[in-house]
Amino acid sequence: MIKFNSLSIENTFLLYQSTYKQIKNIIADHLFKTMMSPTTNSALISYYDSRTHFYEKVHKHIKSLNYKYQEKTVITEEMKTKIFRCLSNKYPDEFNSTFKSWCRTSFSIRKIGVESVLCDSKNRKPILIYEQMYEIFKQIHEETAHGGRDKCMNSLSVNYSCYNRQLMQIFINNCQACQNRQAVKIPMLSKPIIELGKT
Ligand SMILES: [Zn+2]
Repeated sequence: MIKFNSLSIENTFLLYQSTYKQIKNIIADHLFKTMMSPTTNSALISYYDSRTHFYEKVHKHIKSLNYKYQEKTVITEEMKTKIFRCLSNKYPDEFNSTFKSWCRTSFSIRKIGVESVLCDSKNRKPILIYEQMYEIFKQIHEETAHGGRDKCMNSLSVNYSCYNRQLMQIFINNCQACQNRQAVKIPMLSKPIIELGKT
């Protein structure tokens, strides 16, 4: 049983919560200094709003799962560091045998360019890390012209491992452009604007 992944998710989420206001202030300050246009300003604010809403919903989703599933839903940066440390075999006393065995069977480290990347041991694809999830989902969703969940998952699976359909669905549900498009599709009620016979 891997004990610290959900703790790591909790920490990461709290970090997001606490830094969110600071990020907004930094952006506002930067925009003021660089005199960026109001359009760019609102685009950046809406980006951070959307990112925060996404992680809030993901956090809520993970917390709603059975404890044993919570642990393996996502791999955070903190967990990635622990897996790297474990796989390096330099810190034998730091991890228990269950964790070591989980690391060895699930992950491998690949050199891609100058970077050491945590990969799935079976398909050798990079693990999609929790903190990068929003940006990667956004990129994929836009590349597929706001494609649906399955289209996005197919595209994501070309380059990544360890992703989650439900989290992708949360991302798509959170996409403002998709919500606007959906709103246009809903047919209007066929009530006449001018009621006949009442002149
Ligand atoms: Zn969309």
